[in-house]
Amino acid sequence: MSERPRLTVLSGPSGVGKSTVVAHLRKQHPELWLSVSVTTRHPRPGEKNGVHYYFVDNDEFEKLIANGELLEWAVFAGNRYGTPRAAVLEKLENGVPVLLEIDLQGARQVRESMPDARLVFLGPPSWEELVRRLTGRGTEPQDVIDRRLEAAKVELAAESEFDTTLVNRSVEQVATELLTLLGVA
Ligand code: 5GP
Repeated sequence: MSERPRLTVLSGPSGVGKSTVVAHLRKQHPELWLSVSVTTRHPRPGEKNGVHYYFVDNDEFEKLIANGELLEWAVFAGNRYGTPRAAVLEKLENGVPVLLEIDLQGARQVRESMPDARLVFLGPPSWEELVRRLTGRGTEPQDVIDRRLEAAKVELAAESEFDTTLVNRSVEQVATELLTLLGVA
C-alpha cells in the first residue's frame, strides 16, 4: 500500500536561491505540482500571475484570511504572502507530493497545523555569499535589501528547527536532493 505523501516545506533566507531551485524543478519536472502562493507584492519583471504567484491587493488578501482559505500566511519585508489551503489538501488527498516554498514564519505555522510535514532548510554556502546574492539581484532598492538581510539573520538562526538542511552550492544538486525527499526520483 502506498503511503500518503508528506507535505514538504522548503524554507530558508531570502536570496538563498529557493525560487531558482523551484524554477529548475518546474522546468525539469513539469509533472511536479508546486503550490502557487498569494502575495500583495508587485510582480517582478517576468513574473506571471498564477504561475509564480497570484498577485492580489490587500483587500483580497484580507478576504482570503477571513474565509480561512490560507493554510498559512506571513508578512515578509512589508508584503503579505500565503499558501492557498484547498489545492494543497486536495493534492495530498490524491496522493500527489506537494512542495511549498515559504518563509520561516510560514514553515512554523505548517509545523503546528500539519505536524507530519517535512521541513527542509535551504542554506547558503556562507553569509558572504548570501549578501552577494541578495545585493547582486539588482531588482530591489537598498532599503529593501537591508530589510531582507535583517530577515535573513533571523532565518539563518532557525536552521535547527528543520528536519533537513540542504546547502545551495549548486541548483542541480539541491533539486536532485529535493526530488529524492519528495519521493519522485
Ligand atoms: P519573494 O518576494 O522574494 O518572492 O519572496 C519573499 C519571501 O516570501 C521568500 O522567503 C519566500 O519563500 C516567501 N514566501 C513566498 N510565498 C510564501 C507563502 O505562501 N507563505 C509564506 N509564509 N512565505 C512565502
